[in-house]
Order: sequence, then C-alpha cells, then structure tokens
Amino acid sequence: MILRSCDMHTHTEFSFDGRCTVDELCASAAEKGVSVLAITEHFDIDSRGGGDYYFRHEAQRKEAMRLAAEKYAGRLTLLCGVEIGQPHICPEITREFLSERDFDVVLGSVHDVRPEIDVYSTRYPDLRACDNMFEQYFSELCEVARCSFVDVVTHYDYPMRVMEHVFRERGCSLRRYREHMLPMLKAVADSGVALEINTSGMRRWQRTHAGEEWILEDYKRAGGERVTVGSDTHKADGVGVGFHEVCAMLRGCGFDRLTVYRRRKPEYIFI
Ligand SMILES: [Zn+2]
Ligand SMILES: [Zn+2]
Repeated sequence: MILRSCDMHTHTEFSFDGRCTVDELCASAAEKGVSVLAITEHFDIDSRGGGDYYFRHEAQRKEAMRLAAEKYAGRLTLLCGVEIGQPHICPEITREFLSERDFDVVLGSVHDVRPEIDVYSTRYPDLRACDNMFEQYFSELCEVARCSFVDVVTHYDYPMRVMEHVFRERGCSLRRYREHMLPMLKAVADSGVALEINTSGMRRWQRTHAGEEWILEDYKRAGGERVTVGSDTHKADGVGVGFHEVCAMLRGCGFDRLTVYRRRKPEYIFI
C-alpha cells in the first residue's frame, strides 16, 4: 500500500459529539493527502444508554459511508470502524454487537472507569486525585487489551485532557506513571493488538501528541510491534493532524512500520 498519510481514529455527526459530516471529513482528508481514513464512531456501553445514539443513526451512517466510498474511490481508502467504550465491562454485549456487523477496525476505549465514573466530568482537585485516576485508567486498559474482539487500544493519555490545571506547570508527560503503564504496554504487546498514538493533544492544551519517546521504547522492549496513529478528530479540519510527527518519533525509536486494519486484519505500512 502506498502511504502518504493515514488516520485510524475519527468521528462524524454519527457520533453524539461529532461536528462534521462523512463527506466533509473525507473531503478534508483527500485534500490533506490522507490516503487511509478510518471513521470510528462511538458505541459506548453503559447503563445510561450510551449505545442509543449509534443505533438511531446506524442506517444513515451506512448510506453515508457507501456514498463516500463511491465518491472518493481512487483518492481515499475509506475504512468503517467503531470505537467501543468500556468493552471490558460488557464483553457479551460487545461480542453480540460485533457479530452482527462487518467493521474494518474495532477500537477499544475507556471513557468511564468503574463504577461508571466519567473521566471527563470527574473533578481532580490535586495531583493525588490525578494519580488515582491514571492508576485505575491504565489498569482498565489492561483489561481492554485482553478483550479478544478489540484491534486497537486507544488514547492511553485520555485523562490528561481534563487535567490542565494540575499538569500545566509540571508538563503533560506521563512519566510519573511509568510503573503503571508498563503492565498495560505488556498486555497490549502480549495480546497482539495495536497501541494507538493519539494526536488530539496537539490541538488541546498539551500541544503535543501522546507518543513520548520512552513510552514507545518501553512498548518495543515489551515486545510491542503494532502501532496505529489516530487524530480522534470530531471536526473535518483535524483529520490527519500529527501523523508525520508521530512517524518521525516512531522511526527514532526503531519502529519501521505502522499498522492499519482492513476487514479486521492488520496490514503493515513501512514508514
Ligand atoms: Zn475515545
Ligand atoms: Zn474517539
């Protein structure tokens, strides 16, 4: 596969928090030279009915994806994915959901930690509160990595998005959590799933992507080989952001390829 750029994690209006149409996202991707684009709408499993939005828009989504695949054929490899929130909490529901659908890629995410604590709306008064969240977060990501129906473990830096008030002075490095990240990186490597380097921090307060050098090196030492890059954009203009910066970092850490998934099978792209 000839690669100019790829983005394995994006959203449109068919996610409850998406702000663009499928066509707008594809047009922006094509214009920016993103040659592989996975659209991965949210399907969050929780008792508050997080999957309802997905179901309500599923038929429309299917049609929009079909039209876009036709319109952008030859310019864009369009992949249909899904971002499952908390797959480790309800593996049976997830398995059933996936068994009835053909996705190219399944992202496994944690947006809520047990017991249904929304990472985004929790208050973090001090560093200790952040530490507690991150420790639990990495532990739950280990469980996601061990879900056999997940292809990619996403945004390990997710809680940092809402911790600016604690980390701005300290910097957004996850280094203080190294001992808690190691088991997670090992679980991802051992399961053979891919580790996502999320670049959304570049357009947030962190102003950088999540691919810290020491994380990539620890992952490699743990036997990790598969890496995806995802902007996690919810708007058309954010597609593909950070791809080249992550590739440079990966090459520097001894990775020579990226992973994309098509029909749930990994394909490698040399960088
Ligand atoms: Zn997410
Ligand atoms: Zn997302």
